[in-house]
Amino acid sequence: MHRTLTLADLSERDRQLVEAARDASVNAYAPYSGFAVGAAVRTKSGRSYSGANLENASYGLGICAEVSVMAVASAAADLDVEAIAVVGHKFTEPQDSSQLVTPCGRCRQVIFEASQVSNVDVRVFSCTGDLSQIVECTISELLPAAFGPKNLGLDEAWPEMRSQLRAAAARLAGKARVGTTSHTGLPRAPRHAASKR
Ligand SMILES: [Zn+2]
Repeated sequence: MHRTLTLADLSERDRQLVEAARDASVNAYAPYSGFAVGAAVRTKSGRSYSGANLENASYGLGICAEVSVMAVASAAADLDVEAIAVVGHKFTEPQDSSQLVTPCGRCRQVIFEASQVSNVDVRVFSCTGDLSQIVECTISELLPAAFGPKNLGLDEAWPEMRSQLRAAAARLAGKARVGTTSHTGLPRAPRHAASKR
């Protein structure tokens, strides 16, 4: 059920999350739409990450703030998302910041994927640019009957595959350490005897 809230209704940590999303919107690269979106996620670890929309002269290549922030959290190996906040505003018409910004269809799918990693029905805070209005719902409410890893029979697979990935990466890093070429591709200089002291 959607809940319409104000900042005063939020817990301290949820308020920090929506404010982080608002603050992240300043980092948008949005020369085409003039519409800045910031997003922030909080994970089970208690850490939070933020991102903003990233547009492109080839319009269809634009990346939403929600996708951006999920990539940031994933790159930190911390995709156990429990909550996300989204704030947007048309900065070329700053007098109008009253439009509620909800995740687009693609972003709902991306949030759903994270919810399958965290095993949490992720709470989604959709906000106006001035945070005067906040709507809270869950990703299962925003995207009912979603397609996900369970449909592919892979909902149990990732933890073990991640272990495989880390072992493979460690092997590759080990090979790099014993290799005879430096990262420049040039032969390493012979170790100087003095360096062994
Ligand atoms: Zn989107």
